Amino acid sequence: MELENMKFDLGFAREMDEKDPIRSFRKRFAFPKINGKEFLYFTGNSLGLKPIDADNAIKTELDDWANWGVEGHFRAKNPWFNYHEMFTKNLASLVGANSHEVVAMNGLTANLHLLFASFYRPNVKRYKIICEKKAFPSDQYMLESQVIHHGLDPEKCIIEVGPREGEHLIRHEDIYNAIIDNSDELALVFIGGINYYSGQLFDMKTITEHAHKAGALAGFDLAHAFGNVELSLHDWKVDFAAWCSYKYLNSGPGSIAGIYIHEKHGLNPETPRLSGWWGYDKDKRFLMDSGFHPMPGAEGWQLSNAPILAMAVHKVALDIHCEAGMKRLRAKSVMLTAYLEFIIEEISNSHPNVSFEVISPKDKDQRGAQLSLLVHGRGKELFNALTKEGAIVDWREPNVIRLAPVPLYNSFSDLVEFGQLLNKIIS
Ligand SMILES: *Cc1c(COP(=O)(O)O)cnc(C)c1O
Repeated sequence: MELENMKFDLGFAREMDEKDPIRSFRKRFAFPKINGKEFLYFTGNSLGLKPIDADNAIKTELDDWANWGVEGHFRAKNPWFNYHEMFTKNLASLVGANSHEVVAMNGLTANLHLLFASFYRPNVKRYKIICEKKAFPSDQYMLESQVIHHGLDPEKCIIEVGPREGEHLIRHEDIYNAIIDNSDELALVFIGGINYYSGQLFDMKTITEHAHKAGALAGFDLAHAFGNVELSLHDWKVDFAAWCSYKYLNSGPGSIAGIYIHEKHGLNPETPRLSGWWGYDKDKRFLMDSGFHPMPGAEGWQLSNAPILAMAVHKVALDIHCEAGMKRLRAKSVMLTAYLEFIIEEISNSHPNVSFEVISPKDKDQRGAQLSLLVHGRGKELFNALTKEGAIVDWREPNVIRLAPVPLYNSFSDLVEFGQLLNKIIS
């Protein structure tokens, strides 16, 4: 499948859809409807769609709870005691890690705090964190409160690298230079693998190399990268990472998140951490002894017994994602995003009164399944009209519309229909 001689018309898009090897996955998701017609859905980067099989998966666990009560921990169809082990293979493959380097637990921001408890341990010499400017708000609050928690001053400890004056993207060289300039005091580089606002995908491998060269650690928030782009965290030598599962992974609102910890930290029982009983060596957990003996690897960071109902949906979503396969998803994603960009340009060119500036990177290797459009003109009105007419897109102040063409369930035809709607509204 290749995108040659692109045309902004339904015939072309339908041909592309017919050649799409993963087109059938669309049927496995529930699309929201307006007046009986399916919405054009482009906010899978905020909340992915519901897998149809989620109902049965939750029902299974409810039935096992009804049938077994507490015995379900060991006698349920999928015993709850080690339920999370069903995710290991898929999680490891999606982030490019060894199986003992990943685990599903908690929510994203909670996990970031736990990872910082282990990997941000400022001392007199090393206390600075380099992060991206305009990080997702929760990450900003997390960073600031971590610094304050250690009795330090965020102004002195947090170094933000942002786009240069008049630009929308962060230049990698500016990140590398910030690392070099602060290398003596640097504790940690912590960046979103893909920036939620611009859709910029960072070179995590090279950033990690620079961080290590400066004697610091490197961690990433993969909320927008997980299930969106191919990752090789272990080979890139990334120290730690965390993600949520309700964006590209479709595991449901607020569903279970996940972490990665490189084995050089995770397999070391001395690595400091905030602990709970679910991270305790599972063969001895129910001896209920004092003195903490962690599970080896990321599992040793678990705190609580697992939220099985949320995890039931996570299981369905992970299985679907891995059945489609990250390679095929990414290949389609690159084309969908390029096609959307082409359609937006066509529309921009034919309407001199409104213009859309794509602030996401032009280079496919520096973006995932997202285009952020800076609207010059009446952006909020346009957004409201789109929603009313059946397209769900995302609005960010002051004037940005974010669109995520998700390869698992969006089609090339969706993009043409969206373009036609956009055309109609601005004409
Ligand atoms: C979506 C997102 C979050 C959300 O955090 P939760 O703890 O899951 O509510 C945090 N950080 C980034 C970068 C995100 O994109």
